[in-house]
Amino acid sequence: MASVGENQNAAVAEAMVHSLKPQALLVSREAKEADTVVRAGSAVVGGGSFTVIAGPCSVENAEQMVCTARFAHKYGASILRGGAYKPRTSPYSFQGLGTEGLELLAQARRLTGLPVVTEVMDTQDVDLVESYADILQVGARNVQNFCLLKRVGQARKPVLLKRGLMTTIKEFLMAAEYILAGGNDQVILCERGIRTFETATRNTLDLSAVCVLKEMTHLPVVVDPSHAVGNRRYVKPLARASLAVGADGIMVEMHCTPDKALCDGDQSLTPADFKVLMSELKAMSGLRQVWLAC
Ligand code: PEP
Ligand code: MN
Repeated sequence: MASVGENQNAAVAEAMVHSLKPQALLVSREAKEADTVVRAGSAVVGGGSFTVIAGPCSVENAEQMVCTARFAHKYGASILRGGAYKPRTSPYSFQGLGTEGLELLAQARRLTGLPVVTEVMDTQDVDLVESYADILQVGARNVQNFCLLKRVGQARKPVLLKRGLMTTIKEFLMAAEYILAGGNDQVILCERGIRTFETATRNTLDLSAVCVLKEMTHLPVVVDPSHAVGNRRYVKPLARASLAVGADGIMVEMHCTPDKALCDGDQSLTPADFKVLMSELKAMSGLRQVWLAC
């Protein structure tokens, strides 16, 4: 029979071996099997529903924001999008309205009841953006801004994290891990196209990433076809494909007058396009229930 001392030694050895074993990542299905459901206001992302986020690339003025928000609401979007802080390739392009843009988003929320998602680019702005937004967006260019990831990990609002232009799936998950490790488990992943040799589209939509991510992580995965293709003609088919591939939702740019948009007008759906898309997605939702049940 083992003595008390031997038993204690065995327990210590076991604890040491355990501490050497790599811990399952918080984002992984090993750490949590069931789908994470992210809640923001009246909206739910993940756990079987298909959530549509729509709105302009940028908040431009009250008229544009109210008009677009009303169409988003009328045709069935669950979350309103709009950038107040814009990451632009050129420093001379419209950079967003900042605080005024946040105010206009809050006004649009009051009018429609839709929760809003908007990008935060800087750790210094997180408190301010958090005081207005229902969901904080971390954009593609900031997916490996570790200071920002740590900061939004401490936020009390959900985070929509976009995949970077050159981010592998593993790097993308590690970026999300920063947020969960900070204590915020309300994270939505967004596939928005990656950079490839192809120039016919703005980026290349990696729909296979959705399948891989859904297997690897419990976090909801949405697709942004607008930034992936850069052309409104291709947005509807890729939005449909996103539903078919098993995404938890889509984020599309929609503008009441895209020809006048200050940013990304070419890829923004008109309200009429958005209406058609919503009815197409509705028609497909029965099929989605069938394959989710399988
Ligand atoms: C956006 O969604 O407003 C945006 C800038 O997208 P991305 O970060 O994917 O380029
Ligand atoms: Mn845009």
